[in-house]
Amino acid sequence: MYLVGKINVISALPDKFKRLNDIAYNLWWSWNPEAIDLYREIDLELWEKVGKNPVRFLQEVSQKKLQAKLEEQAYMDRLDTVVADFDKYMTEKDTWYSRNYPERTGKSIAYFSAEYGLNEVLPIYSGGLGVLSGDHCKSASDLGLPFTAIGLFYKQGYFSQRINIHGWQETCFNNLNISQLPVLPAFDASGRQAEISITFAGRTVFAKVWRVQIGRINLYLMDTDVAQNSPSDRALTSRLYGGDQETRIQQEIFLGIGGIRVLDALGIHPSVYHMNEGHSSFMGLELIRKLINERHLTFKEALQIVSASAVFTTHTPVPAGNDTFPLYMMDKYFGDFWGQLGISRYDFLELGLKKPEDQNFNMTVLALTLAGRKNGVSELHGAVSRDIFSDVWPEVPKSDVPITHITNGIHTLTWLSPKIKELYDKYLEPGWKNSIYDSAAFKGVDLIPDEELWNTHLELKQKLISFVRDRMKAQKLANGESMEAVRHVDSFLDPDALTIGFARRFATYKRANLIFRNLARIQNILNNPGKPVQVIFAGKAHPADGPAHEVIKNINDIAKQEGFYGKVILLENYNMTVARNLVQGVDVWMNNPRRPLEASGTSGQKVCINGIINFSILDGWWCEGYNGENGWVIGDETEFDNETSQDNIDSESIYDMLEQKIVPLFYKVNEKGIPVEWIAMMKNSIKSLAWNYSTDRMVKEYAERMYLPAMEGSEKLLNDNCSAARSLSYFKEHLKNNWAQVQLMAEKNENELKDYKSNSGQELYLTVNAQFGAIDPSSVEVEVYYGIFENGSITSPRSARMDCVEKLGDSLYKYSLNLKIEDGGEYAYTFRATPRHPDLINRFDTGLIRWVM
Ligand SMILES: *Cc1c(COP(=O)(O)O)cnc(C)c1O
Repeated sequence: MYLVGKINVISALPDKFKRLNDIAYNLWWSWNPEAIDLYREIDLELWEKVGKNPVRFLQEVSQKKLQAKLEEQAYMDRLDTVVADFDKYMTEKDTWYSRNYPERTGKSIAYFSAEYGLNEVLPIYSGGLGVLSGDHCKSASDLGLPFTAIGLFYKQGYFSQRINIHGWQETCFNNLNISQLPVLPAFDASGRQAEISITFAGRTVFAKVWRVQIGRINLYLMDTDVAQNSPSDRALTSRLYGGDQETRIQQEIFLGIGGIRVLDALGIHPSVYHMNEGHSSFMGLELIRKLINERHLTFKEALQIVSASAVFTTHTPVPAGNDTFPLYMMDKYFGDFWGQLGISRYDFLELGLKKPEDQNFNMTVLALTLAGRKNGVSELHGAVSRDIFSDVWPEVPKSDVPITHITNGIHTLTWLSPKIKELYDKYLEPGWKNSIYDSAAFKGVDLIPDEELWNTHLELKQKLISFVRDRMKAQKLANGESMEAVRHVDSFLDPDALTIGFARRFATYKRANLIFRNLARIQNILNNPGKPVQVIFAGKAHPADGPAHEVIKNINDIAKQEGFYGKVILLENYNMTVARNLVQGVDVWMNNPRRPLEASGTSGQKVCINGIINFSILDGWWCEGYNGENGWVIGDETEFDNETSQDNIDSESIYDMLEQKIVPLFYKVNEKGIPVEWIAMMKNSIKSLAWNYSTDRMVKEYAERMYLPAMEGSEKLLNDNCSAARSLSYFKEHLKNNWAQVQLMAEKNENELKDYKSNSGQELYLTVNAQFGAIDPSSVEVEVYYGIFENGSITSPRSARMDCVEKLGDSLYKYSLNLKIEDGGEYAYTFRATPRHPDLINRFDTGLIRWVM
């Protein structure tokens, strides 16, 4: 048949329903279950069919069904309530931000990320990084931050995963239909869809800009699928993490450089720029280029301003997560860029080299070099990042490497089951939703009757089991398995059995099949008479990660074996839908990464708000979250060089903990059949973790520790025709050029350390002489650096500032200090000098440091 044309008929909405359309285009609905209910109740079947996508739902819903609802007063009343809540949210003047920073509401923050996991209808995320960005935006909206997010529109999104009959992962891509998504054109001042262009490698590539509304904030997405571009350029932004390194560098040029141009095109002038992971770090180069043009600054002067306004968050210590590009590729795409910055090729490339001899330009190093404020995503990851990036600051002790940490969180209302939310609404203080970051908000959890919490949990577990069975049936049908095999799925999973969830990207360091290291032992645990255990797995492997595919295959094979069949489930296509069902419905959430490679991990934070208990390696966030009463740990904090030993010990620990602690506690019930002690632990999990591992707490911390200082700092440097930026740049140059003249001289013994005896709290008088050459003493900080003496060096170092007490000669000064140490122990000390300037964000960032000779 020859088709002549397409006719796209969009349902006409009765006036009363027009507001439902406004809400459909604002992802606010995705964390407000009352809004979701309004759509699904009109036509449940259609709601499921359109993938729970309100935009598409309203386009396809029948007039008859709408009319029927119009006559249902209770429904219409609820519609009015939801619309009123939405309007109130959107126009609210009284937010956390406006209350705390009323003078700064005119400033704004731009946030750059390669992926955003906002909701499954918009599959432009791959995993944890994207979900974190999405949750960050939602909390930025809830807290009222002046915030704009920037990303790429991937027309084909990220791949969907199929697991074939042999247990191998297959990937597929679907074209998203933009007209059916909560995505609108972003208009510029002239009322046209905003468009930007970038010239690189001898051609100009164009992108148009789309807008996604996330509550009160906007996410702008670039899309190179425009008519002016060549076919290959049109496909440039089509897939998240698709294509080769050439695709990757071009996508990152768009994300970073293009992102700044989008803000310009839309007339948005942020004072803070947050690079969420290194993919966007070319952004800083474009900012410098603009400052040079617009303010007539030198490269170094402009760098001071960019540094003051840029924040960088690193998300993984795994090398594959840190992009690098070969230098020839940098030449190809940036060959005419460094000239515009007024610097040489050498100086340009050096910005992204970890060590001077490296042949790869590292995006993380570029971000670390450009951003004045930097952080990892948990306390442990902060320390690991200071260690692995210490090459960037070779002279600086690892503990002073200028990378701090802000521990990740999750957007509570996005991951909270509506059923548990009902309990919170009933038993917590009214308004708990507006102070999720406050531990006091969750005090009322103790008031929830055990039975009510348990029954709600069982209901959610049953819902999960139905969800899993439906998915497994579809999976088996798609693989052409027999009808008998499909029917068998109805006997999968026992609603009364202890149910463990394990879902995350199948990167090998996450060791998804660790629990199967000793098959006989785990088989006994799963089949313990009267105390059965079952495990549900899900996760995607990176297409290029061969060993991760083997892990999927291995779990799939085991799931078919006697003793595991129906008890070990491997669900395909892990995404936010699967995640939501799992983190609301299992009993225990297991995580066993190879420490310390899990930078934070967030899925365990999603479960705790639903009363699910974590069982995890002490890695990432769980090092901070675990308090002895809110879950269990696997292994201890020991890290082995030998992976086999580590895997053996950790798997043994899993079995021991299951056998001795977890299974007995789960099956220990009172006369009413309620596991009272288990429920106490569920409540501990909620009370101790829910507030602290929320993105509300996290974004608040970003605001207080990063965004606001960056606003103030960059504003100061820009004032008065950038005079402070010029003098800061001069200061750094002057110090750098003359630093060789700085020397510290301490009185010391020839071959051994000086030895003092001191009582706790007693003051010890220490002095050091300092020679500064051409540098003014006011530009230098002199400190004693001390700590526990161990294996010939200092551990747990501390430092204390010394006072200049005497001029001894020409640029020679005496510094002293009364050092008081409270805790007993054997200490060692030395002295050091570092730069000092009120506008330095972190004095170690310059890399200049002089130790006593
Ligand atoms: C939360 C989430 C992740 C991240 O989980 P981790 O525990 O941090 O690995 C990955 N993918 C999806 C779909 C998620 O919802």
